[in-house]
Amino acid sequence: MLNVPSQSFPAPSSQQRVASGGRSKVPLKQGRSLMDWIRLTKSGKDLTGLRGRLIEVTEEELKKHNKKDDCWICIRGFVYNVSPYMEYHPGGEDELMRAAGSDGTDLFDQVHRWVNYESMLKECLVGRMAIKPAVPKDCREEKKVLNGMLPKSQVSDTLAKEGPSSPSYDWFQTDSLVTIVIYTKQKDINLDSVIVDHQDDSFRAETIIKDYSYIIHMGLSREIQEDFSVRVVENVGKIEIVLKKKENTSWKRLGHPLENHNLLIPKKDTGLYYRKCQLISKEGVTHDTKLFCLMLPASTHLQVPVGQHVYLKLTITGTEIVKPYTPVSDFLLSEFKEPVLLNNKYIYFLIKIYPAGLFTPELDHLHIGDFVSVSNPEGNFKISQFRELEDLFLLAAGTGFTPMVKILNYALTNIPGLRKVKLMFFNKTEDDIIWRSQLEKLAFKDKRFDVEFVLSAPTSEWNGKRGYISPALLSQFLKRSLDNSRVLICICGPTPFTEQGIRLLHDLNFSKDEIHSFTA
Ligand code: FAD
Ligand code: NAP
Repeated sequence: MLNVPSQSFPAPSSQQRVASGGRSKVPLKQGRSLMDWIRLTKSGKDLTGLRGRLIEVTEEELKKHNKKDDCWICIRGFVYNVSPYMEYHPGGEDELMRAAGSDGTDLFDQVHRWVNYESMLKECLVGRMAIKPAVPKDCREEKKVLNGMLPKSQVSDTLAKEGPSSPSYDWFQTDSLVTIVIYTKQKDINLDSVIVDHQDDSFRAETIIKDYSYIIHMGLSREIQEDFSVRVVENVGKIEIVLKKKENTSWKRLGHPLENHNLLIPKKDTGLYYRKCQLISKEGVTHDTKLFCLMLPASTHLQVPVGQHVYLKLTITGTEIVKPYTPVSDFLLSEFKEPVLLNNKYIYFLIKIYPAGLFTPELDHLHIGDFVSVSNPEGNFKISQFRELEDLFLLAAGTGFTPMVKILNYALTNIPGLRKVKLMFFNKTEDDIIWRSQLEKLAFKDKRFDVEFVLSAPTSEWNGKRGYISPALLSQFLKRSLDNSRVLICICGPTPFTEQGIRLLHDLNFSKDEIHSFTA
């Protein structure tokens, strides 16, 4: 709902502008960009009509403000007057009006829960709801002293029925170490499943169990060293986090509980958690795409699973702006340069810089050593989709190539029965093709892999395929290696490209289970 540009957007000269269908961006009037909005919020103008006063809003009062020029919306108990924002909203006025005079939290979460509305709309804050709508019962104080096996994690009634069985944790210590053990009771847990951070006196470990998060979140009772290790015993689903004490003294308790501690909650309700990462390098890849390398803090354990993205956050003119990006691995580069950055402390991003964009020029202006906040991973791609896979087809347009990088690496190294991997890569011109020579080299080296480039605006010298995604291109490209081979088709690019691709794939009789589309 309260969208910022953009989860998906058409480049100004792109065909996407005329494509129909899907949740598309509404072209904004001149002077109504997100940057213009930020400027307005900094101008000192009274945007709520309350001259900075915050009020308690009753449900009856909220309902009255349901018109375009008088529109209040409640998100997570806070009420905003969004009328001044209407013309700046990339999703259009109608999208905002769906929540006029009501609680828009669910609508907001459905569309883009990652957008930092608190920062974007802080000058529109009217006040709090007098009767709070559905506050999660999460921050209950832990009464028991934290030593030894803890009571079962708290789960809601629905979760108890539908969710995974409830994890638990314990801790023990030696003179120099404190080990926190999480018993997930799941077999498919690995190092990607757990994200650990120690920042500003708060220790947080989030374990992803299917669509749920189990959270350990504490203020530790004593100081620890910056680095720690994480081990997973996969067959029993046990996670061990080994912390190094700063002083070799005995801890009487692990610490005090913080928000969501010892809770198993649906992943969508956890909120995004960020840590500051340092920019290590920035290299040009094409005329408008760069490879950014960010370093995680020593006090973070985070591995972004194949097919998932994270959110990057920057403060632009005093407002926090968040955009999604899909980390890539550097496996296609390893032949070309020294693999200096080997461990999991580094995250790579291939990012296209849009000169008229809000976020990417700012990212491009960062200096080596500057910091960017990086969120926990999100996304609905699951490695289990590769099970017994024989043919993998990848359809990518522009930077829609980014999820394909890790997929390609994983598939070629981890799927034993894989016979064929084909990438069809759509771009405007030859100059836009990311890592072309690397892909061609890979195709030469690995007989299972093949790549085809399709250009929408090639020069007359281009001998390859041209045009847009079409039935003819797809039916020729998507040939199974055997009549009944198990296939997966991954598709990613501008939203209208992806939507059109999915329609064409259904027309070609591929089933829903055989298609994975990447969207926000
Ligand atoms: P924006 O401000 O969004 O503008 C982009 C362009 O569109 C500009 O030319 C601007 O002038 C124009 N524009 C914007 N809004 C409008 C409008 N309403 N009307 C008319 N024109 C408009 N990108 C990558 O490069 N690499 C990735 O790995 C990557 N991963 C992604 C993963 C996911 C899940 C998703 C959803 C997107 C991903 N993206 C990725 C895209 C990325 O999130 C940003 O959308 C992109 O970087 C543009 O951001 P920006 O703020 O610079 O540009
Ligand atoms: P682009 O250069 O604008 O487009 C790449 C190619 O796709 C061009 O040949 C373009 O043709 C073609 N194309 C665009 N719209 C089309 C349509 N409706 N039908 C058929 N072909 C179409 O792409 P980009 O600027 O790199 O943008 C990449 C997009 O991928 C962004 O929208 C980004 O948000 C998205 N993305 C999503 C994820 C994800 O969801 N996980 C990850 C990464 C990127 P023309 O230029 O001739 O129009």
